[in-house]
Amino acid sequence: MSKPTIGIIGGGQLGSMLSTAAKNLNLKTIIISDDEHAPAQFFADEFIFCNYNDELKIDEFSNKIDFVTYEFENIPYETLCKIDNIKKVNPRPSINKIIQNRLSEKDFLNKNNIKTTSYISVKNESELKSSQDFIPGILKTCTLGYDGKGQYKINNEEELDNLKVNFENHYILEKLVKLKKEISVIITRFGKQKYEVYDPIENVHEDQLLKYSKIPAEVNEVLFDKSKEWAKYIAEELDYIGTMCVEYFIDKNDNLFVNEIAPRVHNSGHLTINAYNVSQFENHIRAVCGLDKVETKKLHNAKMINLIGEDILVYRKKIFKDNEFFFDYKKNTVKKKRKMGHLTIIEK
Ligand code: ADP
Ligand code: MG
Repeated sequence: MSKPTIGIIGGGQLGSMLSTAAKNLNLKTIIISDDEHAPAQFFADEFIFCNYNDELKIDEFSNKIDFVTYEFENIPYETLCKIDNIKKVNPRPSINKIIQNRLSEKDFLNKNNIKTTSYISVKNESELKSSQDFIPGILKTCTLGYDGKGQYKINNEEELDNLKVNFENHYILEKLVKLKKEISVIITRFGKQKYEVYDPIENVHEDQLLKYSKIPAEVNEVLFDKSKEWAKYIAEELDYIGTMCVEYFIDKNDNLFVNEIAPRVHNSGHLTINAYNVSQFENHIRAVCGLDKVETKKLHNAKMINLIGEDILVYRKKIFKDNEFFFDYKKNTVKKKRKMGHLTIIEK
């Protein structure tokens, strides 16, 4: 009998790590991406390069696979629906539609009494100029932003008055939170009340880009439990299948806010590969392919360093200790602010 095949939409490093996990579970993998140089192609059995609106290629992909998922959220909703008509996409396209837009994502959370930062929708110049109540704040495009792209920090009213943005995009303006710390909770949901939840991970960002993650997160017991409870509640409410990440802010008074949800595996969870018996990637593949749920246990405390831009050149030449795990994403060009690899260090 031939191996079952999982299709993964998107060709970045998350696609590579999902592909590796799927192969270890004896699945065949096909990556589809609109980036000719997508690094995940080097980790998959097959690669389809096309635009996400190329109907013929999307059809070809859909008919070659048994299961399908995605590694980034910015896939056109119509494409996900088209694939979904042939093979069921998980997480469901309707979930992705809510989460890929910062405004509908935050509206959804608040409707469910989950606290987020305060925010306002900004569609045009006059709405922007009259949003003083949200300053200091960060203006963010509702869709297509990642790693701090499409974001403008506004420190005071003068900056608000002088700011020029392109209103082809719809924005939200979020009030700046006085951050004590950022954490994330990764959860894999297999079905109704069936989960594996990883312990909260503590994250440090530099320049709006994740730089370090570690477990355990140094937070009090109340925040530790509450962040996990909220992640379960959100996953249940969305009827989510697969791995999801909830990013949180903790302010100086220990208030917890959801920053955003990622409907996919997440950078802060890279350390689960070496620190847990089952990684976020393996759990995701298990959930979307209907494989057994394995009880997920932490084996080690760990920290992860993102290697951004030219950092990678130094690390490619290093010799590592046996508790250090170096991952090179094999991207074809080194760019500033681009995630090029990571290093996980486990405590033995
Ligand atoms: P992205 O989708 O690019 O990850 P985020 O909304 O998560 O965008 O923002 C990236 C980082 O910028 C956050 O992890 C945080 O460090 C900082 N940031 C974003 N919004 C706020 C805010 N309202 N208050 C304080 N810091 C923020
Ligand atoms: Mg984020």
